[in-house]
Amino acid sequence: MGKELQQALWEAGFDAFAVMPAGPVERMLPVLQQALDEDRYPAFVERDVRRRIDPRNLQPSAKTVITLAVSYNIGPPQAAPPLHGAVSRYAWGLDYHRVLGERLDRVISHLRENWGARECTKAVDTTFLVDRALAVESGLGFPGSNCSVYVPPYGSWVFLGALLVDVELPQFRPEKAGSWSCPVECDLCIKACPTQALFAPGKIQPGRCLSYLTQMSGAIPAEYRRKLGCRLWGCDICQQACPLNKEAALTRHREFAPVVGPHVPLLTLLESSKGEFAEMFGPTPMGWRGKNILQRNACLILGNQGEKAALPVLEKTAQEHASPLVREAAAWAVEQLS
Ligand code: SF4
Repeated sequence: MGKELQQALWEAGFDAFAVMPAGPVERMLPVLQQALDEDRYPAFVERDVRRRIDPRNLQPSAKTVITLAVSYNIGPPQAAPPLHGAVSRYAWGLDYHRVLGERLDRVISHLRENWGARECTKAVDTTFLVDRALAVESGLGFPGSNCSVYVPPYGSWVFLGALLVDVELPQFRPEKAGSWSCPVECDLCIKACPTQALFAPGKIQPGRCLSYLTQMSGAIPAEYRRKLGCRLWGCDICQQACPLNKEAALTRHREFAPVVGPHVPLLTLLESSKGEFAEMFGPTPMGWRGKNILQRNACLILGNQGEKAALPVLEKTAQEHASPLVREAAAWAVEQLS
């Protein structure tokens, strides 16, 4: 790959990158089909598995795919203090969709000016493509047993993105190119999962995953409420359990330093207005989910923590909150504390 393109990608703020021709990632097909057959797809995911494996279904003119990774590893958190909820490491700082989107814009400008690109499509988490399959196929990283992609030397503490480009670019695989299997012979991540959502290497039942549950609409099923512990948003347990992740390099990007995380005061969150919530959480990846979902989670955590000091606010919430979802969660918490 031209040194100047590598330089441009690094300067745009990407820690690792790979370049491959645009085409179907056939090896992903049986994996996706099996997940579909076993009903392991969340409702919002595209069902047409063949469509998901070929970037040209998103941009028919695509000739090249650049896969990219940005580390967000700020370091491990302390345990959450009483009356606080824990936020997953990826969500402590600014919203990565925006941060990566702006960086990709810089790359697109470079490709237009220097490589004659006319059409480029950004893919960060929100398209039907399987970003992890693209990352692995291109050699950017390898898949861990915990379903995350590992990008040396940053572990799985990375945001992934891809850029589809309508010109041919020289192919490039990083020196420590990935393979299609986890190199560590252990099942620590599977053993650590509190809900058995992760039930075999590379296999997950999303409906049981605490990360999914903290983001879902509606009431969190009773069987998972205790297992939520103090998790307000996301769950890092299967990533933290991994020996490779303990050695991972720290991030150079200040955008991912804590804005609200790693711990959020729950009583303040419960009493916050829509405006106060937007001010606190709006810049982060949690902002899009809205106040009621976070307040629902806050109630359940307070019920789990057993701190009686939370009772007055919970009782008030159970009676007066505008959302039936939050009222129900608060009433459940009051029951746990009484
Ligand atoms: Fe299990 Fe948590 Fe990993 Fe989900 S994120 S699979 S709940 S350990």
